[in-house]
Amino acid sequence: MTKPRLSGIAAFSSHSAVQVVRGANEERLRALLFGDARSLRVYSRFPALKFEPRLYSGRETLNELGDLGFVLVPNGSVVEYVGTDVLKSARIPVFGSRRLLGIEASQRSKMQLLRDASIPVPKEYERPEEIDRPVIVKFPGAKGGRGYFVARSPEEVRSGIERGLRSGSVKTTGQAIIQEYLMGTTLYAHFFHSPIYRRTELTGFDVRYESDVDGLRRAPVNVAEGVSPTFTVVGNFPVFPRERLLETFIEFGERFVEAVKRVTGDVFAGPFSLECIVDRDLNVWAFEFSGRIVAGTNVYLFHGSPYLALYFDVPITVGRRIAMELRIGAETDSLQELLT
Ligand code: AMP
Repeated sequence: MTKPRLSGIAAFSSHSAVQVVRGANEERLRALLFGDARSLRVYSRFPALKFEPRLYSGRETLNELGDLGFVLVPNGSVVEYVGTDVLKSARIPVFGSRRLLGIEASQRSKMQLLRDASIPVPKEYERPEEIDRPVIVKFPGAKGGRGYFVARSPEEVRSGIERGLRSGSVKTTGQAIIQEYLMGTTLYAHFFHSPIYRRTELTGFDVRYESDVDGLRRAPVNVAEGVSPTFTVVGNFPVFPRERLLETFIEFGERFVEAVKRVTGDVFAGPFSLECIVDRDLNVWAFEFSGRIVAGTNVYLFHGSPYLALYFDVPITVGRRIAMELRIGAETDSLQELLT
């Protein structure tokens, strides 16, 4: 890579863009959002968000932005809508590991990376007839849990996958991941790996508000009966775990960073999240990760992350933390430690 420069931050106009723009504004960096006209209009409604809008028309847009010196701050929409093929070869430096985003897009490689990091994960089954407990069946793609289903028998797994094949959510039976359904509460842990400060910071936790699985709590019994819940993300809440869990999460975060560096061979910097379930004995399992900012960090939008306040003495958002790392990286000539 030629010596990187930083003339501004570019992000896809959705997901956590509001925070990334605000963070860039606070750190006095240029911010640019690219996407479709509709989403750009939404963000333009907020006068205090200062950004340059750009219609996205594929790889060329990213190449142009790269030539102008913009750095891409990836979010979930980049993984889903830009796609890993374009990302792999686009001429724009990416904050964090480009290869990690490719791993994230594949359910199987992402679970393997968690195993490589020695983080406990749910059991996986190759074939429906192997299941010996309730399972959750996942179709590929970062679609916010849409189309997942829970099954208790090989027959339920098979008929659910057939439904998926008919609706086009899954192309082949082999693409469906059959995973042990973990009983417990969800906790999504947010981290920020900083090569500048040489540490992995804990930035917070959220839980997702998911339809229908959360809606079932308020549904009358006769309505709830027989509903097979889906997991479409509707929003997020902040949550503060018991302090005895913090050490476990911090260790998981540090192990994850080491595994990313080992497996990808890339430098690694920036936000990531481990999506976990905590069981009744306070065992923690990860069933997913996101190798970039998660929308759940928006819960700290204006008050800032309470955990980042414990590192910097002032509460700042993850969006601002990103801009800070990039600004300091540019000022200290260390951008090559942050970008791929
Ligand atoms: P994901 O798209 O993998 O983040 O999953 C969407 C939702 O499905 C999560 O927020 C959880 O509520 C649920 N979920 C995913 N995997 C599991 C699992 N192995 N056991 C129990 N619930 C799960």
